[in-house]
Formats: sequence, structure tokens, C-alpha cells
Amino acid sequence: MRVRVLGAAAGGGFPQWNCGCDNCRGVREGTIRATPRTQDSLAVSPGGDRWFLLNASPEIRSQVESFPSLHPRRPRHSPIEAIVLANGDLDHCLGVFSLREAHPIVIYATERVRHGITESNVFYRTLERFPDQVTWRALKVGREDELAGGDGRPSGLTVEPVAAPGKLPVHLDGLVSPDPEDNVGLRIRERTSGRVLAYFSAIGKLSRSVLQALDGVDCIFFDGTFWSSDELSGPGLMAKTAEDLAHLPIGGEDGSLQALARLSARRRVYIHINNTNPILREDSAERRAVEAAGCEVAFDGMEVTL
Ligand SMILES: [Zn+2]
Ligand SMILES: [Zn+2]
Repeated sequence: MRVRVLGAAAGGGFPQWNCGCDNCRGVREGTIRATPRTQDSLAVSPGGDRWFLLNASPEIRSQVESFPSLHPRRPRHSPIEAIVLANGDLDHCLGVFSLREAHPIVIYATERVRHGITESNVFYRTLERFPDQVTWRALKVGREDELAGGDGRPSGLTVEPVAAPGKLPVHLDGLVSPDPEDNVGLRIRERTSGRVLAYFSAIGKLSRSVLQALDGVDCIFFDGTFWSSDELSGPGLMAKTAEDLAHLPIGGEDGSLQALARLSARRRVYIHINNTNPILREDSAERRAVEAAGCEVAFDGMEVTL
């Protein structure tokens, strides 16, 4: 299985358009050791020919252009066979609306996530210009499904969603009551090799079921949004803690780094990294701590072969 990081940043990207924090200013001015990153998305493929996207970021157009394997091979064509959505946050699903050029799309998502995108959303009509423009395939927590494109041909990869403690997308907050299928992690398994990729880019807590889902996998991409709980509230950027935003911090005694360090996965990679996070700086103490624990920091263009 091939895995390509299309984007490694949390919502807003790095740098973020309205942010003048030390990291964003430093990366713009070239005064810190860090590279810009677009918003979180992975591309996975069984052999390099057929591709599946995990989340569709607002920067999907430039992400496709940045990776020749995703370029069309005929006048009207895309090697992207389907998109899997882990939740309905705009930084994870807005890209779908940028794929509106009358091309049939297959989307895997829980019923909750589909509902949040299709109901009471006048923009969604742009993806209903002809019958079957979008084929939705329902994901169910605890059930493993074959990944396939529009022709239904099995890819040899399966997807299994795992309920991940999270929150509703901001635009649905207060409109519907929360549900375990609002936010899921994804286990992608290759049938022939048995190799498993786990992708948990938004998770507020390491619950028992999540730890079980991570046990024995070969590669983990994990929520690296914040290093510390008060990363936004401390410098007065926002009055919320990491936990309020349903992102488990990396650092600290109860942070994800301690837990990830104990897992057996060959590759443990932080992704969905907020622009304020000190691990973005290649020479920071926090970056050294991540690497000393055997973990990595994702960057746009990173590739992992399982
Ligand atoms: Zn996000
Ligand atoms: Zn910033």
C-alpha cells in the first residue's frame, strides 16, 4: 500500500491567512526552520494506479497538481476513484465542492456525515447536476467495507471506521445532537499483505476502543493539532483549550506522545498540525521530543510504503 501526504496542516493551513503568530510570521519571512503545509489529506493506493483520498481539503486542486500520480491520463479522467470522509469539518470536506466539473464522484462517509453535507445545503446542488454525480457509500462503525471506484471493481483495500471522541462541525453545532458517527478514525487494510494504516486526524481522547483499533497496525497518522492544552488560549489567539476543540494535545503526562510511544507501529506520524504548534519548527525542543519517542511529523509530499 502506498500512502502520500497531500496536506499535513490542521484547518487554516500553515501559514494561516489571518495569523501573525511566531510560526506563521516566521515561515512567511523565512526566519524559522519550518516549511509551509496545506490542509490535512492523505492519498492511498494499493499499487500506485488507483487512488483513494482520505478527506478532501479546501486545497485539493493544488494538492492534486502537486502529485503526478493523481493527474488525468485521458482528456476527461481522474485516478481518484473515491473519497473517504472522516468527519464533516469544512477543512476535511470542502474539497468535494471543488470537484464539481461534471465528474462522477464516489464518497464513503457515515450517514451522519453525509446528512451534514447534503441537507439544507444549497451549495450541494452543484453536485446534483446529473443523476449519480455523487455516489454515497455508507460507512458503519465496526464494519469493514471494500474500497472501490464508480465501476465497483474491488481495489484490494478495505476501510473500517472507528468512533473517535470528537465534536460536531462548527456549522452544525446546536442544530443536531452529537453522535458517535460524527467523527471517525479510519483503518485502511490491504487484503493481500494484511498491512493496516490507521488515520486519526481529529481525536479528543484516547478511548479504549481507539487504543484497540491502533493495536498492531503498521502505520499510524495521528492528530497532531496542538502540543499543549493552552496553545491558543495562552497567547490570547482564542479563548478555547485544545480539549474544548476536541483535539488531544501531544505533550504532557496525558498527551498522545506518551501513548503513541508505547504502540508497536513501525511508523507513527503526527498530522493535522496547527500552525501554532512548536513541532513545526525543526529545531524546537518539542520536535526533538517527538523524534526521541520514535514518532515523526508529517509534511506535504511525505510518502510511506506499507
Ligand atoms: Zn480539521
Ligand atoms: Zn499562526
